[in-house]
Amino acid sequence: MSSRARVLVLNSALGPLDYRVPHGMAVEPGSIVVAPLGPRQLTGVVWEAERMPSEAEVGDNRLRNLLAVADAPPLRAPLRRLVEWTADYYLAPPAAVVRMALSSSAALEGSRTAIEYRATGHVPDRLTPQRAQALERIGDRQGLIRELAALADVSDGVIRGLVKAGAIEATEVAIDTPYPAPDPDHAPPVLSDDQRAAATTLCEAVAAESFRTILLDGVTGSGKTEVYFEAVAAAIRAGRQVLVLLPEIALTEPFLKRFHDRFGCEPVAWHSGLRAAQRRRAWRAIASGEARVTVGARSALFLPYAQLGLIVVDEAHETSFKQEDGVHYHARDVAVMRGLFEGCPTILASATPAIETRHQVALGNYAEVRLPGRFGPAELPTIEAIDLIAEPPERGRWLSPRLVAALGETLARGEQSLLFLNRRGYAPLTLCRTCGHRFQCPHCTAWMVEHRLTRRLACHHCGHVEPVPRLCPECRNEDTLVACGPGVERIADEVAALFPEARIAVVTSDTIWSPARAAEFVARMEAGAIDIVVGTQLVTKGYHFPNLTLVGVVDADLGLDGGDLRAAERTFQQIRQVSGRAGRGEKPGHVFIQTHSPGAQVMQALVTGDAEAFYAAETEARQDAGAPPFGRYAAIIVSSEDQPSALETARQIGRAAPRVDGMEVYGPAPAPLAMLRGRHRYRLLVHARRALDVQDVIRDWLGALEWSAKVRVAVDVDPYSFL
Ligand code: ADP
Ligand code: ZN
Repeated sequence: MSSRARVLVLNSALGPLDYRVPHGMAVEPGSIVVAPLGPRQLTGVVWEAERMPSEAEVGDNRLRNLLAVADAPPLRAPLRRLVEWTADYYLAPPAAVVRMALSSSAALEGSRTAIEYRATGHVPDRLTPQRAQALERIGDRQGLIRELAALADVSDGVIRGLVKAGAIEATEVAIDTPYPAPDPDHAPPVLSDDQRAAATTLCEAVAAESFRTILLDGVTGSGKTEVYFEAVAAAIRAGRQVLVLLPEIALTEPFLKRFHDRFGCEPVAWHSGLRAAQRRRAWRAIASGEARVTVGARSALFLPYAQLGLIVVDEAHETSFKQEDGVHYHARDVAVMRGLFEGCPTILASATPAIETRHQVALGNYAEVRLPGRFGPAELPTIEAIDLIAEPPERGRWLSPRLVAALGETLARGEQSLLFLNRRGYAPLTLCRTCGHRFQCPHCTAWMVEHRLTRRLACHHCGHVEPVPRLCPECRNEDTLVACGPGVERIADEVAALFPEARIAVVTSDTIWSPARAAEFVARMEAGAIDIVVGTQLVTKGYHFPNLTLVGVVDADLGLDGGDLRAAERTFQQIRQVSGRAGRGEKPGHVFIQTHSPGAQVMQALVTGDAEAFYAAETEARQDAGAPPFGRYAAIIVSSEDQPSALETARQIGRAAPRVDGMEVYGPAPAPLAMLRGRHRYRLLVHARRALDVQDVIRDWLGALEWSAKVRVAVDVDPYSFL
């Protein structure tokens, strides 16, 4: 009598497969196993056969044996249910979702040590610019050759060359050292009455050990973090694990520090910047239950927590929680589902909750806890709009006289300023003055962006870079290239020309590429070594700099183009967030918003601070349009390197569109980003009423079609990007 097991192998092209469990091997649903597939060996997870139908039933006599069971706990039922739900809702292969749970291959191996590489301090005789860059960026960090290469933005070969030259050496590291346990009573704050009331509600939800979603809604600086830390403490005391999701890795470093101040040690960090050995250590500690508190980017959501007692999604309105490739999931929504399956509360913290979230509160599905004012003496900043038509900047400049004057006064008072412009690089477009040639990415429908710091033109969609040429490639004239429009680097130049004595920092993903660089920036800000920060959305949230009193929004209209259904909401959130950086200490803050349309509803709402009126109007507009949360969208993106194939498949899908009551299909049309990474793209947009099971309709619709292997069809349920 052989026993069979249904296994989800980590290959998204395959459905579940059946194997024989050899004599002496014990498996159960969730067991992580090694299975043969042709000549290869694949990792897989044993699943309940009734929940994962197999397409081809194989007779007992044709089954192959499972090879091994990994030395790791089985994935628990709540996580298996989450995998099924995510695959179902986002129309993704279950294997692609399971892969996120098993996101450390090293965690499944037996070895307890790893070989890593680190700098020796020896400077090689031949120091090429690449080698110098590598050594500078690596500093005192260590990791696999591949990891160091990625960190330094050089090829593996450069790192290997440095090993040969004696500048980098191999070292053996132990990887399963235990994590320290956070102490819930290390340094609890004295909470204000409002904070205490909010914390009590959250702690009660933790104590109830049951599913509940709570919106923690409080203005920036109201102490949301301190308040949800009380719930974290309650979960630690109850012996349960906590997951805190942050929207960006850049926020991890300041969070770790705050956590350390409150709980006496750092939590377990999980993000894409971890080395293989760190991933293994974190994964195993999470699976064993030893990791009490994990903080991470959205990928931490699928980790195999042993006994989750609380999930917190910080800055829950952030659209970066939406994953835009692979499985197109929204981490905020999946976090709520994980809470449901685990039977634990999920807290969504935000100063500017998404309309979708507020709607759930209105329906009574989510509870709401409010923190009405800033903590302590800090007041909300004053906000003024600057009409760029009435008060234009000087020719060739981007800052209007009123903002320049405010910068000068802030500088004179010895306080810090922040200029926000959500555009990396020097200029978003470069063209030839003589012939009008514009520099476009060869792989994308996008302009090349000039970066003066690195003297390159870069595509922000695919990463393609070119040196800035001296000759125009079109008309061959020399030195005729002009930069059009501002990026942060250009604003920094303008500020430097206006205030030569000011110490300026440009903060973007180009300058803050690692948590260590973020920590460096925070330290310099706190030490008062920076007067003026010019930054992208990377500086809009999370940071707390008491001496920062002025915020200037260089171009408030930027996010409003593009016809995206959430454009106004996102602009409101982003500017409220960045405004929230001003005046967080005892000194009052001032915010100036440069705009061409000061009369626009969103600008009015920002200036008057009347969030309710703005939300009410936006919500009504969404309702009229049948847009989320009142209706639903799904995008079908058809792409191929071969344009006719992409177009043909898109048309085929369009022709086959089912006629369903309450559902409309638009397109196919070329996507706004008609080419991306060398692939031609067409989009269809499905618009349906809320109650319709769009996933089911799309599954049947696409499932009945076939297309060439050259074509990729991706479905984006609840899309956030309309590119
Ligand atoms: P939010 O997350 O709502 O923006 P924070 O939790 O970052 O607010 O709080 C803003 C600042 O006020 C932080 O420096 C925080 O440490 C401080 N703070 C808030 N509440 C308290 C408290 N009860 N006791 C001491 N400091 C507090
Ligand atoms: Zn490109």
